[in-house]
Amino acid sequence: MSKLLVIGCGGVAQVAIQKCAQNSKVFTEMCLASRTVSKCDALKEKLKKQGSPVKITTATVNADDVKDLVKLIKEYQPDAVLNVALPYQDLTIMDACLECKVDYIDTANYEPEDTDEPVWRAAYEKRCKEKGFTAYFDYSYQWAYMDKFKEAGITGLLGTGFDPGVTSVFTAYAKKHYFDEIHTVDILDCNGGDHGYAFATNFNPEINLREVSANGSYWEDGHWVETKPMEIKREYDFPEVGMKDMYLLHHEEIEALGRNFPEIKRIRFFMTFGQSYLDHMRCLEDVGMLSTTPIKFEGKDIVPIQFLKALLPDPASLGPRTVGKTNIGCIIRGIKDGKEKVIYIYNVCDHQECYKELGSQAISYTTGVPAMIGTALVITGAWKKPGVFTTDEFDPDPYMDMLNEYGLPWVVDENPVEVP
Ligand code: NDP
Repeated sequence: MSKLLVIGCGGVAQVAIQKCAQNSKVFTEMCLASRTVSKCDALKEKLKKQGSPVKITTATVNADDVKDLVKLIKEYQPDAVLNVALPYQDLTIMDACLECKVDYIDTANYEPEDTDEPVWRAAYEKRCKEKGFTAYFDYSYQWAYMDKFKEAGITGLLGTGFDPGVTSVFTAYAKKHYFDEIHTVDILDCNGGDHGYAFATNFNPEINLREVSANGSYWEDGHWVETKPMEIKREYDFPEVGMKDMYLLHHEEIEALGRNFPEIKRIRFFMTFGQSYLDHMRCLEDVGMLSTTPIKFEGKDIVPIQFLKALLPDPASLGPRTVGKTNIGCIIRGIKDGKEKVIYIYNVCDHQECYKELGSQAISYTTGVPAMIGTALVITGAWKKPGVFTTDEFDPDPYMDMLNEYGLPWVVDENPVEVP
């Protein structure tokens, strides 16, 4: 018996909620709350028509407003809050959970909506100098809640999507079952899907375009090495997808793995992009459309990247048109019983299979399923401990079992080709 409050009802949330409904032994009651409540109502209707036994209510909430969140949490009295809104809302939702002493779960680490806000900007510039990477997002804001969450006796589970999320669990699983010591981790995120549009993003366009247009970076020998955007390119022949170009990006799980596994000498993250995507992105960047700084247009302030988001297809609408597969996983090298070894743990997910099952494409699916799994493990107590943690800090086994059970089966290849 449990009550879950889900905040956000976009592409990822729709999968997470439907997967919670499939796991109705754990999730007996859910409140779906978002800015646009009609999306929550439509999903509630869909689940009702399917005969879901979960008792579902809906609500409107402004997740930028702690008071509004606290009011809803106090009214609904959930056992946990799953934040599948945007990273901009992480801290307000964490504050509300703290005030109400309720467990908190999310899929992406905090970044501010307004990167020109002076107080944030000053802290950011200091962090860039001290840590050596310039991404807008980092874990420091959420890790700062560690003591407050401990005192309140609540769990904060950060980043339980696929990457971050499953990729960190894959690393913890490799350490537990395959290695005495891990030396290198390459996280490879391949989307071999084709949606037929000249340009569209597979999850929230604003968050996605900010991420991929930023400098890349990797962790080596205890420090960050930063690269220009898309500076490091490799080719890789992905199982069940084929040969793809991939580029080194900064990614948040590198920060958590670097801290929690100090033995790892190098951690890199690569994502595949087609030439058309990169050409469009470069052009949009050159004309200023990726800017987060408001400009005046006919007397109104508009943020270029938010205007672009309004023009691009809604990622949640890509499901019916996307064909092909994703392959996301980790190539891990280390030592077992004094001998060097390498393994590749990965999942392959088919866009059309996801669409048939839940009406979503594979990017939302591969994020929403782990969001449900992390939440279930917190709610059932398997992953409950006071404080704020990433997914590599718990026993990986129950999570790995649930990936197999809920649609993201994984494979361990003990003789993979490595990335040069
Ligand atoms: P969407 O833009 O599709 O959905 C976001 C949802 O949040 C929408 O329903 C939106 O409401 C709602 N929302 C936004 N602002 C507020 C607010 N102030 N108050 C209440 N609700 C709000 O995003 P995605 O589903 O693509 O992404 C969701 C999250 O998943 C993001 O944090 C993203 O970074 C993360 N993610 C993580 C991945 C991983 O592997 N770890 C991979 C992909 C995504 P409205 O409908 O009104 O717009």
